Amino acid sequence: MANNLGLAVKPVTETPVEEIERVAAWINTEEYRDLNFKREALVVAPPHACQPLGAELAAHAFEGSLPFVHGSQGCASYYRSTLNRHFREPAPAVSDSMTEDGAVFGGQNNLHEGLENAIALYKPKMVSIFTSCMPEIIGDDLSAFIKNARNKGIVPADMPVPYANTPSFSGSHVHGYDAMLLSILQALTEGKKVEGRCTGKINLLPGFDANTGNFREYKRIFEAFGVPYTILGDISDVFDSPLDGTYRIYPGGTRLDDAADSINGKATISLGPYSATKTYAWAKDNYAGKHTALPMPLGIAKTDAFLMKIAEVAGKPVPESFKAERGRAVDAMTDAHQYMHGKKFALYGDPDQLIGYVSFLLEMGAVPYHILCSKGSKKVEKEIQALLDLSPYGKQGKIYMGKDLWHMRSLIMTDPVDAIIGDTHGKFMARDAKIPLFRFGFPVLDRVNLHRYPIIGYQGVINMVTTICNKFIDITDETCEDRQFEMMR
Ligand code: SF4
Repeated sequence: MANNLGLAVKPVTETPVEEIERVAAWINTEEYRDLNFKREALVVAPPHACQPLGAELAAHAFEGSLPFVHGSQGCASYYRSTLNRHFREPAPAVSDSMTEDGAVFGGQNNLHEGLENAIALYKPKMVSIFTSCMPEIIGDDLSAFIKNARNKGIVPADMPVPYANTPSFSGSHVHGYDAMLLSILQALTEGKKVEGRCTGKINLLPGFDANTGNFREYKRIFEAFGVPYTILGDISDVFDSPLDGTYRIYPGGTRLDDAADSINGKATISLGPYSATKTYAWAKDNYAGKHTALPMPLGIAKTDAFLMKIAEVAGKPVPESFKAERGRAVDAMTDAHQYMHGKKFALYGDPDQLIGYVSFLLEMGAVPYHILCSKGSKKVEKEIQALLDLSPYGKQGKIYMGKDLWHMRSLIMTDPVDAIIGDTHGKFMARDAKIPLFRFGFPVLDRVNLHRYPIIGYQGVINMVTTICNKFIDITDETCEDRQFEMMR
């Protein structure tokens, strides 16, 4: 065998070309799909990350907070590099780099030495600690280790050190996010509740969301209402900071004082029923004011519900500007509906986003066809099914819980769709199936700036409609016969 320079190349495998071609064709068959769905002991390309990665996102979302990984250096690099590649921004975090001796004798020495160095070098206002698999498997007692660190004076007495156990062999990044967020709020609000005090602010729990544009959109909405608010926690300036020649290790994040006082808020709205579940349940029991959990505001109906809820808890009408904005979003949908109507989509992602995609597609008269969640639940399945049942476009939709992207590949190769909505990991099957992949999920490692384009709210509707429909028009232009290549589409 020779390469394109005519030089001899040692074959990577001795498998005959005919056999490779036979298997490549076989994995696209219904016979293979049925075998694939019988798979039990192996997961291939699950569309979720491990718990600590989500914990790191929550840890970055607060002022002066240094994410601290108790565990392996390699794991810490994985979380950092994934966040770094998704946002194309630094994700400064430290690790106490447990190795073999830590695995045998426990990681307390690593944790103490790591805390001492990190506090001296990076001068955080808060250190947010979470675990990788290794200390969870050997049963490190994080609570005792941190208490001992305080007793030894390694951690300043007034420095908050929230910590979360984030074992990666259960749950996913959304559960790790939830665990870290809960611990941060518990640490910051301890002893801060004042009977009779009301900050007048609405607390927002957006849940796991790696779209900085969404956070800016939430802020714009609250500001248009003229309602004071606290986002718990706010990644917008952390992962979308201006490039002005000065490196800041802790740009942005929810102010620690605001987070501490959030316990005396006027109301708390959760938009992450499946990614801020425990945090919201705790807030309901401990925070003053009203509490309400809504779905992520993706699509018109769910955005309407969000705005009306703000109006209700704030005791203010929805601003006129949003009525006009809603009208523009509906106009954008109407102008574009012919390009999406009846198109079949395969969807995968986190439960909160997935529910939003289904809702949005049904509003466009598109068909959510294969709907897959690797860490879903019966509750998520029921909620999606209820949405499908409400629309004639939902009748063909099938839901796959606890499945992975190799299952999804079998589905789209044997029962085709027009497009996929997900994250970068779907690009291989999209290429095999020769259909577009719309990267609305996390992580997006192969396109730029998408995290700056909100997908929530009315503006998010316009962004999603525009992205999807223009791609379908591009495909028509690229594939049509010359005589059908038109100025107008
Ligand atoms: S699953 Fe466990 S071993 Fe793998 S990166 Fe996550 S924490 Fe590390």
